[in-house]
Amino acid sequence: MRNEERVQVQPKHRKKFLNGYPLIFKEALVNPEKLKTEGTIIQLVDTDGTFIGKGYYGRQNKGYGWVLTQDANESIDEGFFVNKLQRALQYRKPFFEDPNTTAFRIVNGEGDGLGGITIDRFNDYYLINWYSEGAYSFKNDVVNALKKLVDFKGIYEKKRFDSKGQYVEDDDFVAGERGEFPLVVKENGVDFAVYLNEGAMVGVFLDQRPVRKIIQDKYAEGKRVLNTFSYTGAFSVFASLGGATHTTSVDLANRSLNKTIEQFSLNGIDYESENILVMDVFKYFKYAVKKNLKFDMVILDPPSFARSKKHTFSAAKDYKNLLKETIAITEDKGIIVASTNYSGYDMRKFKTFIDQAFKETGGKYRLLEEFSLPEDFRTTKEFREGDYLKVVFIEKIKG
Ligand code: SAH
Repeated sequence: MRNEERVQVQPKHRKKFLNGYPLIFKEALVNPEKLKTEGTIIQLVDTDGTFIGKGYYGRQNKGYGWVLTQDANESIDEGFFVNKLQRALQYRKPFFEDPNTTAFRIVNGEGDGLGGITIDRFNDYYLINWYSEGAYSFKNDVVNALKKLVDFKGIYEKKRFDSKGQYVEDDDFVAGERGEFPLVVKENGVDFAVYLNEGAMVGVFLDQRPVRKIIQDKYAEGKRVLNTFSYTGAFSVFASLGGATHTTSVDLANRSLNKTIEQFSLNGIDYESENILVMDVFKYFKYAVKKNLKFDMVILDPPSFARSKKHTFSAAKDYKNLLKETIAITEDKGIIVASTNYSGYDMRKFKTFIDQAFKETGGKYRLLEEFSLPEDFRTTKEFREGDYLKVVFIEKIKG
């Protein structure tokens, strides 16, 4: 039997949970020290003992666990997960019906009432991400529910809960047949090579799908494009397919070279006529300034935090400077695509960095359009901070 603990909610936070807030955070609890074993069922109660909600204990950077139901009589068992997954799948029905896109998210954590757990589809394979040991303790129920509801060849998982909340190195195979990698999935008709058993990152970040599409359809034609922090070169491939005259992809990781060659080749693009550099982006900016290189479109999609030999980049502190370096190598009338998945600030704040960067470089700009998480990355109005993605298309007018 699973442990169960009654934990009192601080009076001032009671309303928040009654209104559907899903994250159980430490400051909200009167007696958080009662929680010891990951996966313990938490009965959130008022200081007078009245039921508020039921969830589980699972430590991740965001908090102590997640509320799963506001119904005192609902038990958290396989049937519970079948129910949640059924709804989640129903919501993605249009995605399943589109043969041009075979990779998308089917469960997005608290957005689907299952905080701490995400599930992505890659063709006939499914990938579960567990964000805490507590979330992982529901593995049997979740995997059984998934098996009941989808046609699948295989199921893989990522355990993202070592002491620092990072990926735990392991054999990630769970059930069904092992896949042959790369698995070639489709996104709006474009091919992607995906590896489900090679560490935390599988080759594509699905949340940028609409951004890639609009770059291809609306912005790339005739442009010289610089794609920084390019990883497998996804933005470069879409830009090239959209008619970019040339792309330069820059990433520090050695693996990015072969992976980018692979993505170009899969889509029939001659990678030798593109520029793929394994290099520190900040070093590249200096090189570009020295050589007087300018681009018609620069894509910025850095990680929230990165450390290279010479540089530490933190989206919290350094985004403005990243933009300033970018402005210097962007043509007048050029486009800057500024993206961040850092959840510590919202779109409004992100735009203040953009404004400051242009002010400090004496330039003028125009905001063209913006993106947050796509439909399949479902979020709820009760937990706005779950919508971490911020992408802004900026036109540099001059300066
Ligand atoms: N934009 C990519 C995803 C970026 S993931 C996409 O759309 O698929 C972040 C990438 O930044 C990683 O591949 C990492 O190797 C790279 N990176 C981190 N610090 C860097 C630096 N200083 N210079 C270049 N690349 C860096």
